[in-house]
Amino acid sequence: MQHSGPRLFAVLGHPISHSLSPLMHNAAFRELGLNCRYEALDVDIPQFPAAIRRLIDSGYEGLNITIPLKQAAYSLVNEIDTEARQIGAINTVMIEGGKLSGFNTDSFGLLKSLEPFKSQIKGSACLILGAGGAARAAAFVLNSYFAPKRISFASRSPDRAKVIAESLQLKNAETLRPFDASTRGFLESFSLIVNATPVGMYPTIDVSPVPGETVFHNKQIVFDLIYRPLETKLLRQARLAGAACVSGLEMFLHQGARAFELWTGNPMPIEPVRKAVTDQLRGELVGERR
Ligand code: NAP
Repeated sequence: MQHSGPRLFAVLGHPISHSLSPLMHNAAFRELGLNCRYEALDVDIPQFPAAIRRLIDSGYEGLNITIPLKQAAYSLVNEIDTEARQIGAINTVMIEGGKLSGFNTDSFGLLKSLEPFKSQIKGSACLILGAGGAARAAAFVLNSYFAPKRISFASRSPDRAKVIAESLQLKNAETLRPFDASTRGFLESFSLIVNATPVGMYPTIDVSPVPGETVFHNKQIVFDLIYRPLETKLLRQARLAGAACVSGLEMFLHQGARAFELWTGNPMPIEPVRKAVTDQLRGELVGERR
């Protein structure tokens, strides 16, 4: 259906009210003076196919897909980008002439977040905490772009970690239980530790997936995919030990930037958008403390 208002975009998921994607994309549209609108729509798996049909009919041009719909999106699109196929999940959809193309821009977000550490990661041992969708995307990106010596998973579901390692054909993969990660000295040999679990995410911010105060050292990189709060307990442990810290905000911004560019053809103005998102996250923290 043709419509004359702004170009329409949305993020679909459940729950979705906490999503910062509308803030991020609307800030970018405003910055570039684009007549576009981005909203969050609460859609669960049973309503997903009907919601997609309604959005096509209403003239939506682009969608982000988040928990719990990333795998379900797979069967609803007409074309799937090679990386999204390899990762096995779709988080971005382009709608053109009623046809849906699926992409995974989380991988770009991970790649951009880790790029500054490329030489440090090459040939070194990497540890991923968790074995869900983000862990799988992280393993894919590390294996495809960073040539690590080994990728280990510490997960309470080692079978899921084994499936990731096998389907991505990782060489020298190792699957461990989270308990192992807290064993004294265990973490020492890893150059990169990626938290791909929700442990430490708002509102339960006083926990870390890695217990103990002195588990890191200053030659390590610690990447927490969580961006709420900006500094998780895990990142605080890492900072105090002198390790390099990467917040999930980097991934969030860059996965969004890649989707933005696919939809509009324009690079996202990252710095003003980073400020808008950071202001919101800092404001939440102040509100919490009051
Ligand atoms: P997911 O598919 O649900 O996977 C979550 C993983 O964490 C699973 O392996 C799960 O184990 C494990 N887990 C959950 N609770 C745990 C606990 N209490 N202790 C130990 N392990 C636990 O979720 P996801 O999509 O991969 O997301 C993971 C994290 O990444 C979330 O915090 C999400 O917000 C973040 N993320 C950030 C971005 C970004 O742009 N920054 C993008 C995507 C995801 P089981 O398999 O045993 O349940």
